[in-house]
Amino acid sequence: APLPPHSEQEPGRTAGFVIVGGGIAGVTCAEQLSALSPDDPITLLSASPLIKSVTNFRQVGRAMEEFDVEEKTTGALQKACPNVRVVQALVKSLDTDKHEVYTEDGETFPYTKLCICTGGQPKLITKDNPHVIGIRDTETVQHFQQKLANARRVVIVGNGGIALELVYEIEGCEVVWAIKDDSIGNTFFDRGAAEFFLPHLTAGKCEEKKPLKRLKYTLTESSVDSPKKGETAMGGALGPDWKEGWRMKGKQDQVAHQVHVEYQCEVQEVLTREEFNRLGQAAEHFPGTSRAEEQNDDWPVYVLLTNKRLYGCDFVVSATGVVPSTGPFLHNTQFCVAPDGGLRVDDHMHTSVPDVYAAGDVCTASWEPAPQWFQMRLWSQARQMGSYAAKCMVADRDGEEIDLDFCFELFAHVTKFFNYKIVLLGRYNAQGLGKDHELLLRCTKGLEYVKVVLQAGRMQGAVLIGDTDLEETFENLIINGMDLSPYGEDLLDPNIDIEDYFD
Ligand code: FAD
Repeated sequence: APLPPHSEQEPGRTAGFVIVGGGIAGVTCAEQLSALSPDDPITLLSASPLIKSVTNFRQVGRAMEEFDVEEKTTGALQKACPNVRVVQALVKSLDTDKHEVYTEDGETFPYTKLCICTGGQPKLITKDNPHVIGIRDTETVQHFQQKLANARRVVIVGNGGIALELVYEIEGCEVVWAIKDDSIGNTFFDRGAAEFFLPHLTAGKCEEKKPLKRLKYTLTESSVDSPKKGETAMGGALGPDWKEGWRMKGKQDQVAHQVHVEYQCEVQEVLTREEFNRLGQAAEHFPGTSRAEEQNDDWPVYVLLTNKRLYGCDFVVSATGVVPSTGPFLHNTQFCVAPDGGLRVDDHMHTSVPDVYAAGDVCTASWEPAPQWFQMRLWSQARQMGSYAAKCMVADRDGEEIDLDFCFELFAHVTKFFNYKIVLLGRYNAQGLGKDHELLLRCTKGLEYVKVVLQAGRMQGAVLIGDTDLEETFENLIINGMDLSPYGEDLLDPNIDIEDYFD
């Protein structure tokens, strides 16, 4: 029988659906639960005063989707979903036998089914160093921006999406970019695509002429309660347009866009000025400038790389990925944790603990995946997992069967880097295919880069950079598993209308 609505309950006392986390996964889960189960009480517990919500959702293919992410007040979600109650609280622990969640301020929230959506925290190369910052949420971007405004040089460490975006956006400041791979952006691209982007590291940016769009990544005192004392959890990770509207300018007006890449190295040590002086090793000057040109050799912090090069800089951005935020749940519980630190979930987003589900960055998909799907901690997968977890929670409660959602059949990610549209499909970098695959390439410098991964004549994945218009056809070809051997290189012949070809 449905439980009494929130208005008739003693706050926090009646069990129902409970979700922890106000990021994309948690909010989507709450919205979907509310739609499927409008009479049941749903409680969303989030440490962040604002929650993240998906807007302008567009399904652009069978698996491809595009959407914006907006920050909303908790009231907006409660208005749209009347059976959802949002409580700003930091969850401290969980008793899975009693089915209770405990918050830092001493409240207890019983649950019948719980979904953990606590996201991740930046993996920092050093802890508690004021010169090393991570970027995750609104506050950390603001902090970064303030530091950058007074900076002449910054060292960025990491080769994922955040680092890629930063090196492209930063102006008025020298950027030393330290990556452990032999090509840039290798989370998303192969060497060929990296070559395609390299000229953009030093060239002026190809600005898109469009009105500045700023999604609501703001924390204004009037709109939200100030975070509660003692809170340590972070806000939700930013959404796809996180850097739009943020001024990313350092203090060197004469430096437009200057990036130097240090390949195949990691940070060996972050040194204070005193430690640097004691070390007695000369610091590198920025390639292209002579020591004489460097107005001031004195930096607040120095970075020694494993290739033995030493750079002084104003601060370091550690963009080396995230670690799932599982801390509060691992005391006294029997969760299976994956090697990457995420809570293992099965194909029903169920953890190893009864009645506890997980979705988004905090979880690790541990089912046998479809051949062209794999997990990547992205906003699209956070949305899909949050939504699917809600469906599973309701189906399990009602004793119904539910099939794995279609979105887990094919990896699809639509994004933008360096102002180019990027579509990544399936095993786009031949991940897990071994040596037994072939690649077809088409590249027009500065315009487009198309790569298709084939195995046994079947398309396994594709990278599309630029406005190629190939994404829907390629998505279908991957899903249909059609034998493409007869077509050979015609597949990428720009004179052939491929859409007509496969009609
Ligand atoms: P999060 O968004 O991290 O939300 C976690 C929520 O849990 C927060 O509300 C937090 O306050 C709450 N929480 C945590 N611990 C507790 C606790 N103990 N008690 C209560 N609440 C708690 N992905 C893309 O696909 N494309 C991009 O271009 C892209 N760019 C990015 C840029 C940046 C700077 C960053 C940081 C990430 C980017 N990502 C991008 C990744 C993407 O943002 C994440 O994969 C996604 O937002 C994860 O959503 P989530 O809901 O799982 O977690």
